[in-house]
Amino acid sequence: MATNQDLTKTVEQCSHCGTQTPHRVTVEIVTESTGNTNAAFSREPYRMSECTRCGNTTRKRMNNA
Ligand SMILES: [Zn+2]
Repeated sequence: MATNQDLTKTVEQCSHCGTQTPHRVTVEIVTESTGNTNAAFSREPYRMSECTRCGNTTRKRMNNA
């Protein structure tokens, strides 16, 4: 099973460019430690958005647990 979905182009605001630009959006599964040594590592989906103009990448956690 792939951890990344197919690339999708979407127009979003880029804080670096200061305008709306095309972004490549992917979903990445990041393994996080919960801080509890007895607990299993949690795997959290992150939405990665990369500006195709300047390459600035924004990473945002998808579930707000
Ligand atoms: Zn940009």
